[in-house]
Amino acid sequence: MPASTLILEIAVPSPLYRSFDYRAAGAGSDQPPEAGTRVLVPFGRSKVVGILLAVKQHSDHPAGKLKNILEILDPEPVLDTGLMQLLRWTARYYHHPIGETLSTALPALLRKPARPSQRSDMVWTLTESGRQQAAQPPPGAPRQALVLQALADQPRGLQREALQVPLAVLKRLQHKGWLRQVESAPDPDATPVHATATRHTLTAQQQAAAEAVQSGFGRFQPFLLEGVTGSGKTEVYLCLIEQLLQSGKQTLVLVPEIGLTPQLVARFRQRFNVPLAVLHSGLNDRQRLQAWQQAAAGTAGLILGTRSAIFTPLKNPGLIIVDEEHDASLKQQDGLRYSARDLAVWRARQLHIPVLLGSATPSLESLYNVQEDRYRLLDLPQRAGKALAPTMRLLDLRGQKMRDLLSATLLEAMAAHLQRGGQVLLFLNRRGFAPVLLCHACGWVAECRRCDARMTLHQRSGELRCHHCGSQRRIDRHCPACGSSELLGIGEGTERIEQALQQHFPDIPVLRIDRDTTRRKGELEAALSAAGSGAARILLGTQMLAKGHHFPGVTLAAILDADQGLFSSDFRAGERMAQMIVQVAGRAGRAEKPGEVMIQTHHPDHPLLLQLVASGYPAFARAALEERREAQLPPYASMALLRAEATDSGHPRAFLEAARELAEAYQGETVQLWGPVAAPMERRAGRYRAQLLIQAQQRGELQRLLGHWIPLLAGIPQVRRVRWSIDVDPVDLF
Ligand code: ADP
Ligand code: ZN
Ligand code: ZN
Repeated sequence: MPASTLILEIAVPSPLYRSFDYRAAGAGSDQPPEAGTRVLVPFGRSKVVGILLAVKQHSDHPAGKLKNILEILDPEPVLDTGLMQLLRWTARYYHHPIGETLSTALPALLRKPARPSQRSDMVWTLTESGRQQAAQPPPGAPRQALVLQALADQPRGLQREALQVPLAVLKRLQHKGWLRQVESAPDPDATPVHATATRHTLTAQQQAAAEAVQSGFGRFQPFLLEGVTGSGKTEVYLCLIEQLLQSGKQTLVLVPEIGLTPQLVARFRQRFNVPLAVLHSGLNDRQRLQAWQQAAAGTAGLILGTRSAIFTPLKNPGLIIVDEEHDASLKQQDGLRYSARDLAVWRARQLHIPVLLGSATPSLESLYNVQEDRYRLLDLPQRAGKALAPTMRLLDLRGQKMRDLLSATLLEAMAAHLQRGGQVLLFLNRRGFAPVLLCHACGWVAECRRCDARMTLHQRSGELRCHHCGSQRRIDRHCPACGSSELLGIGEGTERIEQALQQHFPDIPVLRIDRDTTRRKGELEAALSAAGSGAARILLGTQMLAKGHHFPGVTLAAILDADQGLFSSDFRAGERMAQMIVQVAGRAGRAEKPGEVMIQTHHPDHPLLLQLVASGYPAFARAALEERREAQLPPYASMALLRAEATDSGHPRAFLEAARELAEAYQGETVQLWGPVAAPMERRAGRYRAQLLIQAQQRGELQRLLGHWIPLLAGIPQVRRVRWSIDVDPVDLF
């Protein structure tokens, strides 16, 4: 049958939970395209890029109603069979429209109709006369000279990105006949050499962990690598990656936030001289596409990215690594709310390769999977090299005379550590100067006009800012309620602590690292290098400072306020708190200097804190898991959250009430519905928010209900008045 009479089932980027049939007529080819190919189709009044799901003989829609496709955009599918399966499963499991799911996975340039040029594999090399020129570079053209020299050392050529000069410079050299562009070919003799980086001899424990994963190469097996900060997890990753590179296999490494961990990327780069595809938010569309294509072509042996990198095509996959697997940012919080960690496990199974989840503070979900024998536990209980584990201590703040969250005990300890040449790291997860601006005369408090939240005082910039919706305004001079000019900033943020530190330690350089001080490009890198080199003696920051960095000189780490997370209504708050404390503690004493960790609290008898300090994270986590079992909370139950929001306060509730009624028909014995209730912060950015929680003992039960129910929501009359979303396995219950 000629291709032109076939029916093409196409996923179109739209919020509708369905695909669309088109006629293949006009495709201009007798060979029907394969699933995963991009197709330009008319949709409504516009033309959109869809993805071919299947080629069919018949459609359930009357033939006369079907439109023709406009154009087949790719000679070959951009999404291979494996990725198509992964994405179809993702759409089903997270109950997200198939068209939007597929388009989330594509690099931005492929969502547009243009056919991207396959320039990714092109490299620049010297011609024979270029080689002669390189020996005597042209005077007065320093950039040209640099290019010639760089290429003289690289007989296999370099991509423009690696040369770091404008294209015009290369074109000029090409015009002179000194350069040419050629297709890069993988070098059969290339072994991943260890560039400048030193390679450690693995400890017996690291060796055992590496060997366990190695013995799983070529088949599906999930591992959880639990190792305190500094125990050498990254070194284990590097060892495994090296072996895979030698056999021509690719490793996909997912990390929570690349921007926060430039050191990690640098470490991978130094170790291997193979093309590395790094997918991070700083890339422009073209660079992102290029990294994607390198992964698909197999030219990139190592693919490093944040959560969305889980959808990168891989030519020769060997291993997936998820670093800091407990980190909440591996779960997407809007649109397609997927967990990159969970998808990594699914994908590894599909690809018949091992998956290695690593963390100093594993999630209770992963520990549960170990308990159930689904994941194999590999542990590294000791620090690598000569580093000693820090000692942890609770500082009772009750009745202490202190200002600005700096207790006398802490100040003394700081002075002692600084005196001995150590660095001090202070952690406070609140930026700004003060979280509250209060009128001393009448008690008025500055609130956000769009949220049920208080404005944070940012003294240096003279502004009040809402950390929930981003709105800002000048600091009031007078109380809008009573006219008094006695307005006080109550409570502490990092800006205030910075000021206090400068008063206490006038001669000591203090470095503050939070979103406010690292807004501009390059600022975070500069700050981290000042912190790492020891130039800054006191480091003060929010969670940006606590994640994965190596600060070898830090001997004292302090959590200024541990009470924030102790009394939250979210059942995961305790787990988060413990992870945060352990991550901060991990910054202390990484090199040969022993470390000390101080935790300031008004609740020194709190069981969570006591247990963490006395027995460490592994014991804490296992006890917390037992509590979850008793309370039948995740991971012993499955949850989904239906959220709705609207500018009118009544609409979200009305919609959710109707949704609940529909759900009751499918509820069964073991599914519970909670709500609807207002979100913990009901109004945010001018919208009122409410939610309905669905909980089931069995994942399958929950999925069965969602499968019947979600498609019906579009039919609820109130649906037009709200914005709604479904979150399967939510990590935040608000
Ligand atoms: P993690 O990823 O668990 O935090 P790293 O792999 O970053 O640990 O290792 C922590 C530090 O110990 C690094 O400075 C690393 O170079 C060093 N290190 C790791 N493994 C060894 C080893 N086997 N021998 C000596 N030093 C090591
Ligand atoms: Zn007042
Ligand atoms: Zn706000």
